[in-house]
Amino acid sequence: MPDTCHAHHAPRRNPLREPGLAAMAMALLPACLGTATAQTTDTGARMERVAEGVYAIVHDDATDEWPHGNTGVVMADDGVLVVDSTYLPSRARADIALIRSITDRPVRYPINTHWHFDHNNGNAAYREAFPGVTIVSERNTRDYIDLNNTWWPRMATAPDSAKRLSLAKLEEKLETGVDDAGDPLSVDAGQVRERHIRQRHDELEELASLEVVAPDLIFDSALTLSLGDRRIELRDWGRANSPHDVTVYLPDEQILFTGDIVVQAPVPYLGDSWPVSWIEVLRQMEAIPVTALVPGHGPVMHDHAYTRQVRELLEAATSRVEAMARRGMTLEQIQGAIEFDDLRQGVWSDPALDDDWKTIMDVLVERVWRGVRGQG
Ligand SMILES: [Zn+2]
Repeated sequence: MPDTCHAHHAPRRNPLREPGLAAMAMALLPACLGTATAQTTDTGARMERVAEGVYAIVHDDATDEWPHGNTGVVMADDGVLVVDSTYLPSRARADIALIRSITDRPVRYPINTHWHFDHNNGNAAYREAFPGVTIVSERNTRDYIDLNNTWWPRMATAPDSAKRLSLAKLEEKLETGVDDAGDPLSVDAGQVRERHIRQRHDELEELASLEVVAPDLIFDSALTLSLGDRRIELRDWGRANSPHDVTVYLPDEQILFTGDIVVQAPVPYLGDSWPVSWIEVLRQMEAIPVTALVPGHGPVMHDHAYTRQVRELLEAATSRVEAMARRGMTLEQIQGAIEFDDLRQGVWSDPALDDDWKTIMDVLVERVWRGVRGQG
């Protein structure tokens, strides 16, 4: 995989909004076109070719608080299968435009890997664009997604919701022109805040009228779909990142869409997870041959190196927390004493993580502490 090409084509924010500029940049990078890294982009996402007719859409965050999950796209003679539909319908509609720029085949199956809304709030956009779609999920996941219907319009966007209060606080900071430390905001910081505020207003407006569309084809344990010549295997792994995490695997092409079982953002999302059972899920997944692995968040990978790194972190957390609990330490004492610096390798050694690493590990320890005591 020529990573240098990938880096040129993968700006965090797409600077190539002017058609002329985009054409010029394309002309300067002829070696990347028509290769495995050819991409289609818009201002908030890049659609990366993973194999013939298989793509990953990697999105910028929706707001400074919420990400979009990655979207997988599998094309076949008689239609398109999509893995996850993002956090906001507006983003899903933009993804549909990207998909339509490559194929005129209709989307037939949007798959929801798990119930977390950054992977399925966009279902409505697919139902609207392709009225015949069949939305697929594991059985319990369907019920959790259905319940999101009361969460978004009635709670998350209510007048006194945490979301609205947090936005009001952000607006106040911009108004007073000082940061958290009381220092004046630089022009750049002010502009960043303005963008964040605009995004959060758009988000609230969209969520307040959100129609959550629950899956209509449900399965237990496993389901195999055929689309044209492609065989597509869905498998529920049970408790890992969520109560039921589903992977989507193309056995002929050896491409694995992991949902949030694998996340590099740049660390896994650990809150509300089941780290103890997650270990065995990762161990079994490592035995699946992959030419490409599309995580729930983060860049497309081509082996299980990062899968193993996550498993080793969860294993170390479990054995360390259990040993400390056996010595009679409380959760707070364990959080105060435990060390994970030896596991900060690869992308996790980035100094930008210094401030957050301890907080993230505290969350992991809390979840593991419940797990080793049979509570999660
Ligand atoms: Zn997610």
